[in-house]
Amino acid sequence: MEKRAEKKRIVLVPLPLQGHITPMMQLGQALNSKGFSITVFLGEFNRISSSKHFPGFQFITIPEILPVAEVEAIGPVEFLIKLNKTSEASFKDCVSQMLIQQGNDIACIIYDDLMYFCGAAANEFKVPSIIFCTTSATHKVCNYVLSKLNAEKFLIDMEDPDLQNKVVENLHPVSFKDLPIGGFEPLERFLVLCREIITKRSACGAIINTVSCLESSSLTLLQQELGISVYPLGPLHITTKETSSLLEEDRSCIEWLNKQKPRSVIYISMGSIFDIETKEVLEMANGLCDSNQPFLWVIRPGSKPLPEEVSKMVSEKGFIVKWAPQNEVLAHPAVGGFWSHCGWNSTLESIAEGVPMICRPFNGEQKLNAMYIESVWRIGILLQGEVERGGVERAVKRLIMDEEGASMRERALVLKEKFNASVSSGGSSYNALNELVNYLETEGK
Ligand code: UDP
Repeated sequence: MEKRAEKKRIVLVPLPLQGHITPMMQLGQALNSKGFSITVFLGEFNRISSSKHFPGFQFITIPEILPVAEVEAIGPVEFLIKLNKTSEASFKDCVSQMLIQQGNDIACIIYDDLMYFCGAAANEFKVPSIIFCTTSATHKVCNYVLSKLNAEKFLIDMEDPDLQNKVVENLHPVSFKDLPIGGFEPLERFLVLCREIITKRSACGAIINTVSCLESSSLTLLQQELGISVYPLGPLHITTKETSSLLEEDRSCIEWLNKQKPRSVIYISMGSIFDIETKEVLEMANGLCDSNQPFLWVIRPGSKPLPEEVSKMVSEKGFIVKWAPQNEVLAHPAVGGFWSHCGWNSTLESIAEGVPMICRPFNGEQKLNAMYIESVWRIGILLQGEVERGGVERAVKRLIMDEEGASMRERALVLKEKFNASVSSGGSSYNALNELVNYLETEGK
């Protein structure tokens, strides 16, 4: 009998945020194409509008998952701690029902490492589990470093500029000031979360959406810290073209891009969560208009609205959408640069199309990515401090018109080639996926 006929089932549990659901669904597709059946556990509030794009996938709702709106109410750290506390029992119920109804056929539970409540269910039902990390290996290693710190002492020590600039052991060029804590206050609670993620883990492997050519030494360090197999099999979006957007994509921007000159357009998106202050939006809008370069700007529903006169000016010189088909936009020949908040998915997506970036990060993790984009891979310009229109205009011109931007694009294109090689036969990500599949087929129940 053909192997595909006896499909093993993989349970996927993404964190219910766009930037985590997308790569998890891509992983699901990659495993599905290797012959596994896929069950996705999602919260009621986070249904994927395009689940029709995943024929054959089973979707199960975990009743207790918190609505994402809670992030705004209580902040990301408390949200994650609460989410893990409130979901553990109902997830166990769901898995237990699934085992009764569908037979004992769960080969493995793959869960977002921030959904650490899954570890308890995996232990109880003796199902193997693997964690899935949707941020960089460097970010994960930094969280290990943080988990070992004493919050109070660290904050006092950090008043010393020498410590701020000291390189974290084995993690060059990351210095203590780069440790990704911004946006996850208070530090004490964040460190509690970092420790919970580590202590509650029962997984026997870690999948990470990165490419070894980007951060090989961090991957080695991560492997040492975790002490389990690490599978760097990114960038996952290259292997699948289907969308898992929670919002409807507005494809009218592709027609608009078709009318623009090659490499002339700045694409602007701040991802799925963050919102820019009105003052900064005004400076951005004026700087972009003054640069005389066309721009495509994602302004999500629910973002602070543009003042009317700005909205008019921006619509005359650029194109605004509520949600874009980002990968298609980045692959479009008219796009010359990406103004990004440097979320990990956006970073990988931009590199995968050889598009240089203007970096405007909000939180610590994005700042770490931005530091790598500007100083390590040298494919972008970091905007720090207060943004003013003159600085915006200069950054756009540097990126799109100057030699400096052309060199960044060349380096980004070299990385693009490396990405393509990594997912092709014999490449690092290709091999990591095969090793994972081999593990799931032989070790998974
Ligand atoms: N995205 C999109 N259309 C948009 C804006 C964003 O499809 O108009 C997608 C983008 O391709 C990426 C995800 O949303 O996959 C954002 O993830 P990222 O890690 O960059 O940032 P986050 O939203 O987690 O802050």
